[in-house]
Amino acid sequence: MKKFLKVFIICLIACCSIIFVGCKDKKDDLSQLGENLSNYYMEINYNDETKTLYAEQTLEYVNNSDALLKEIYLHLYVANFCNGASNSPIDDLHKAQAYPNGESYATLNIIRVQLNGKDIMPIYEGEDNDFMKVELIDPLEPTTSAKIYVEYSVTLPNISHRFGYVDNNVNLANFYPIACVYDDNGWSKNPYHSNGDPFYSEMANYYVNFSCSKDLICAFTGSVEEIADGDTKYYTINNMCVREFAIMLSKDFKTLSKTDNGINYTYYYLTDETPDKALQCAIDCINTFSTLYYQYPYACYNVVQSNFLYGGMEYPMLSLISDAIDNYDDYLNVIVHETAHQWWYSLVGNDQYSNPWLDEALTEFSTLLFYDNNQGYNLTHEGMINGMQENYNLFTSVYKDVLGEIDTSLTRNISEYPTSPEYTYCVYVKGTLMFDSLYQLVGKKQFLKAIKLYAQTYAYKISTPECLIACFEKSTKTNLENFFDCWINDKVIIN
Ligand SMILES: [Zn+2]
Repeated sequence: MKKFLKVFIICLIACCSIIFVGCKDKKDDLSQLGENLSNYYMEINYNDETKTLYAEQTLEYVNNSDALLKEIYLHLYVANFCNGASNSPIDDLHKAQAYPNGESYATLNIIRVQLNGKDIMPIYEGEDNDFMKVELIDPLEPTTSAKIYVEYSVTLPNISHRFGYVDNNVNLANFYPIACVYDDNGWSKNPYHSNGDPFYSEMANYYVNFSCSKDLICAFTGSVEEIADGDTKYYTINNMCVREFAIMLSKDFKTLSKTDNGINYTYYYLTDETPDKALQCAIDCINTFSTLYYQYPYACYNVVQSNFLYGGMEYPMLSLISDAIDNYDDYLNVIVHETAHQWWYSLVGNDQYSNPWLDEALTEFSTLLFYDNNQGYNLTHEGMINGMQENYNLFTSVYKDVLGEIDTSLTRNISEYPTSPEYTYCVYVKGTLMFDSLYQLVGKKQFLKAIKLYAQTYAYKISTPECLIACFEKSTKTNLENFFDCWINDKVIIN
């Protein structure tokens, strides 16, 4: 995600016809890579009149851990959008902006749950009942799978957010039950938080059938097969190896498409006098980061302009860009940022709740590398770093004046940053300054070699800060323990 802090800087935030949009996956063999992943099979109908959706989902969960699992947890993010939720997606600072028509809440109705074909009563956990625990009758051995069927309906809130609608814009992210991650610490059950992107998910395959009224134009994670029948449109979306699945809808979308280097790009926009520039920016990003980091493995990439209270938000093969950004250089910069997330969060995954800087700071630093490699844009690496440094110093001095001292450590999880500005300045700005300092320390050639190694080592996997540091140390043959310790643990003085 990318946020804007306007006070200090902009750095951050009946006849049937068949149309094929997108094409087969290329480069990496995603079919092969996806063979042992969990599979989501979804049937979703969206009713735009009532702003509701009805869905049936079967998750074929594959135990890819070494542990014997006695239960499977699913995260129900919609629960956090319901009235009275303790872990609301909105902090007080953004409430007025988020609810343009007054406070509005979601409803979530779990109609039926089955385990391996038999009805069960799941256990709901968490302060907001936002985790569904499915107890397994027989423990799940490594490499084996269990099928969890969930029938549910959802009412969307009228909110300018990842999940919700405003006017004719409907953003459908985090709307379905998604498996929690089982890692070295057991099941990860961190709740929603208004800071940043409190998400953590593993690669999986998604097989989705989606229907809605034909006047809606829909953008999805992935390549789509579309069939119109009467007043309804039916979409089939099959994605191998993605961390999640999102849909953006509007009656007002205009589209611009182009194929470049075998990848289909589509820009869905509401108002843009120069849509070709936004589309070309997305193409330049994918080409640049494919060269610098790792070949973009998917067949399509969609950039979607929609209503969103922050600057932008990343999803596999899809970036959401807010329609409220009034400066076009900033708008393009958000496209660059969100597209860089295709590598940092999407391809190389991480626990964004526990280590938010790992993907956000590297993503923001990637925007600087983008401008190094694409001179036709109005922003530069040097100009952005100077602006960040100046404004970070201003931020810390203001906070020190008010509070006497300030904690700028990056070891904290998302919920441990007291305010949204502190989160943003530490994770995005300080984190980017850290990567720039490392870039200056080891030099461009060594830095790019190390980051390529990191991408190649952890593509399709989950990374940790230790993984990143180890890659840099291995590649540069330099002990960087003190360097990262100083920056991450609040010991560095930035002048
Ligand atoms: Zn971001």
